Amino acid sequence: MKLRVLGCSGGIGGRHLRTTSFLVDHDILIDAGTGVAELSLAELAAIDHVFLTHAHLDHMLALPLLIDAVAARRERPLLVYALAEVIEVLQQHIFNWAIWPDFTCLPNAEQPFVRFVPIEVGSTICLGDRKVAALPVNHTVSAVGYHLDSGKGSLVFSGDMGPSEAFWQVVTDISNLRYLLVECAFSNQECGLAKLSKHMCPRFLAEELRRLDRPCDLFITHLKPGDIERTMLEIKNSLVDFSPEMLQNNQVFEF
Ligand SMILES: [Zn+2]
Ligand SMILES: [Zn+2]
Repeated sequence: MKLRVLGCSGGIGGRHLRTTSFLVDHDILIDAGTGVAELSLAELAAIDHVFLTHAHLDHMLALPLLIDAVAARRERPLLVYALAEVIEVLQQHIFNWAIWPDFTCLPNAEQPFVRFVPIEVGSTICLGDRKVAALPVNHTVSAVGYHLDSGKGSLVFSGDMGPSEAFWQVVTDISNLRYLLVECAFSNQECGLAKLSKHMCPRFLAEELRRLDRPCDLFITHLKPGDIERTMLEIKNSLVDFSPEMLQNNQVFEF
């Protein structure tokens, strides 16, 4: 599998800062933040599967526009996978005709432009030889992380999360783990805010990584604009067993 980073910032503030979205091969999208706008119309139309970690705006705000852009160009519905609670939020608050049309009944309910597919924590979707599994995380709203497994190797993406024992247990059990993309939204100065909003700060991350009993390459995502350098420095100073790097736009992982 081949994952390309379209966006990995915790906010906006210039062309290089785009919120979370990853393109896997040519047909899978993980989250639909502002990074989606980097794709051409042809690339957008080639996406068959969208996996959402949660319904927070920075992870889904391009989804309504994506559906609108490709609807007339596709012959099959776009499948959007998410927890049932997340789907309910999207249907109630976004695809409600007030904010955006309900594309699950357009052009008709039998052959819609989009279909929502509920998943559960622990469930695995198989797309050919490729596996996408939903991982338990701890956030302020219903959320998951994702484990992508090509058979040859695995990449794990935390999505948004604060400290979570269950997540590290599952990740430790992944025998072919190669890459770990984990969020660290705040610097240590903002530990209080990280705790309230169930995100990571370098101090929490260092404590959490002690639960991971498996080597892997570690990449940091979701850094808040304006605090990026400080947060990365704090992370590098507090982790002894890892050489963490900041995730970059257009970075490609093959596994
Ligand atoms: Zn969030
Ligand atoms: Zn977020």
